Amino acid sequence: MGSITLENVRKSFGSADIIQGASLEIEDGSFVVFVGPSGCGKTTLLRLIAGLEDVTSGQIRIDGADVTDVPPAKRGLSMVFQSYALYPHMSVRGNIAFGLKMAGMPKGEIDRKVEGAASILNLTPYLERKPRDLSGGQRQRVAIGRAIVREPKAFLFDEPLSNLDAALRVQMRQEVTRLQKQLATTAVYVTHDQVEAMTMADRIVVLNAGRIEQYGSPLELYEHPANLFVAGFIGSPKMNLIGREVAGQFGAATIGVRPEHITVARDGEGWEGTVGVAEHLGSDTFIYVDVPQVGTLTARTVGELGIRVGERVRLRPDQRRIHRFDTEGRALAA
Ligand code: ATP
Repeated sequence: MGSITLENVRKSFGSADIIQGASLEIEDGSFVVFVGPSGCGKTTLLRLIAGLEDVTSGQIRIDGADVTDVPPAKRGLSMVFQSYALYPHMSVRGNIAFGLKMAGMPKGEIDRKVEGAASILNLTPYLERKPRDLSGGQRQRVAIGRAIVREPKAFLFDEPLSNLDAALRVQMRQEVTRLQKQLATTAVYVTHDQVEAMTMADRIVVLNAGRIEQYGSPLELYEHPANLFVAGFIGSPKMNLIGREVAGQFGAATIGVRPEHITVARDGEGWEGTVGVAEHLGSDTFIYVDVPQVGTLTARTVGELGIRVGERVRLRPDQRRIHRFDTEGRALAA
């Protein structure tokens, strides 16, 4: 079991209120990702759960038990860091076994657990190697192995993949997700990479300046962003946000339409504009169109339309996919 509950958790450093009242219910066995811009408080919130920082006020419960004042080692959680934090002079086996040895577990049992973890993580051939003789991905797997053998109630990951190159990140992302489902252990994962968040999470917490803007499944956040912040943060390229009289026609202060929900045509209906930039990715083309009275809108088209910079085009938003927001930036009902 490993449910985690935050109740109105606040954290200040000096006079700076870094976490401004976070309430959250993380279900046992779920994979929850904290995402948000740099400095929004993701790592601080994770460290509060771990017990590496003390809350200023509020309560943290694990499986219903108040752990707000319980030291980190007694919370039954395992943390995996971006820096791996491996002992350079110890073998892979020694690194994975370290926590169990310190806890006084008998050698036979340690060997069994270490070998089990190594097998799950494809590290068996490397058990006697030192970290310096491993690739970045293998090192990260050792760090994960060390977390697994402790059989924690939950894993806490702090940007564990950000030191890896792009291809390896994608591979490790899938490995971590598969492993978490296999072990059915609760995971809380910090990243600033929204693709990681969207692909790994059962539920995402979007943080902004120390506040939770929305907590929901990736699809909920994509289809029903609660406010302008989430609308602009989730999705790549970003949702087009349009104000002024255009939004007024829809009974809103701002409307949003995602680039993939705009059809680009050479004539007919729609907003008329001039193509300022065209990015040809092969599979997709991103077109940036300057529309008078509206602004620059991004449209994403599948494949290659042969559209060139300077061409005049018509943009037709899918009327069913238009998001409407009030003057406070809150989503209006569809
Ligand atoms: P990033 O994505 O850049 O890692 P983050 O969302 O994880 O950012 P945090 O590391 O949680 O952000 O930091 C949130 C804010 O709290 C930042 O403004 C940071 O400077 C501040 N902060 C963090 N730790 C401390 C500390 N020990 N003392 C003072 N301020 C701190």
